[in-house]
Amino acid sequence: MALLSVVLPAYNEKENIAPAVEELSKVLEPLEEDYEILFVSDGSTDGTYEEILRVAGRNPHVKGAEFSRNFGKEAAIFAGLELAAGDAVVVMDCDLQHPPAVLPEMVGKWRGGAEVVEGIKSSRGRESLGYKLSAGLFYKVMSRLIRMDMNASSDYKLLDRKVVAALLELPERNTFFRALSFWVGFRTEKVTYEVQERRYGRSKWSLKSLVRYAVRNATSFSTLPLQIVTWLGWLFLVFSLVLGVQTLVRFCMGNAATGFTTVILLILLVGGALMLSLGILGHYIARIYEEVKGRPRYIIREITGNLPEQVKGAWKKHD
Ligand code: UDP
Ligand code: MG
Repeated sequence: MALLSVVLPAYNEKENIAPAVEELSKVLEPLEEDYEILFVSDGSTDGTYEEILRVAGRNPHVKGAEFSRNFGKEAAIFAGLELAAGDAVVVMDCDLQHPPAVLPEMVGKWRGGAEVVEGIKSSRGRESLGYKLSAGLFYKVMSRLIRMDMNASSDYKLLDRKVVAALLELPERNTFFRALSFWVGFRTEKVTYEVQERRYGRSKWSLKSLVRYAVRNATSFSTLPLQIVTWLGWLFLVFSLVLGVQTLVRFCMGNAATGFTTVILLILLVGGALMLSLGILGHYIARIYEEVKGRPRYIIREITGNLPEQVKGAWKKHD
């Protein structure tokens, strides 16, 4: 009998823990596999971890860990991958927006030989117009940068043990789970699902955090922005050549004096391009700096008693 792990990152999701376990148990019990439900609380401040402990006390399938602070969803997913013992690991949101009902289909494809089963959104669910537009733009840009279609993909995936091992081998600190699981390859199949309405609580993304997420992922996964800088450089070179020739011609013809508009325009344009380029370089240098420091992706403060003893950076264990 194989072991199936379900990894759920949770940030201030106290009300969602028990319903998630209930829904998951309903679909996991009838499967022939043994299973574990693993919550990674991402430095929650609302008592999410206490709730996990409470549920784990009654249900031995439930396991959990708590970060020392909020490290972000990516870190929580990777912590879950590291802690999961399963022959296959499913990653899903714990707000039940990723319907557990498609889990059996994912497991079926995995049994049939798929090594990655992607959850593909058939619709994005109900979201505010602003969110829809910004998320849409984000995925458009990301798809271009990464050269993979990101629009319908999500963090809802099933990964075979060898894919998890490959992902955990990657040394980088700035991870982008959704793209990395494309990048590692393997035999991939798809399952479509309808995004559900969030049951309790609010989305944890603000516009600021979305922008930060977009820039972070773009720079950690693509060097295209740097190439854009080079292209801009070329463009301005051609531009300045044309202007240079024009200025020289006017000088030779003896009517050179009044040219302030050109000067101001040039200063503005070139200044803007330079600052933009420096900004882009700055983002890459920040990424390089973070990687070079080699700090861990996350720090675990506590784990539930049913997880293995030697968890990296776990300071306290509950029995
Ligand atoms: N999440 C997390 N850390 C964070 C933000 C979010 O672990 O810093 C988790 C959250 O608990 C949820 C999942 O990531 O399980 C998706 O978050 P959310 O539902 O807020 O995003 P949305 O569905 O609106 O994209
Ligand atoms: Mg959600």
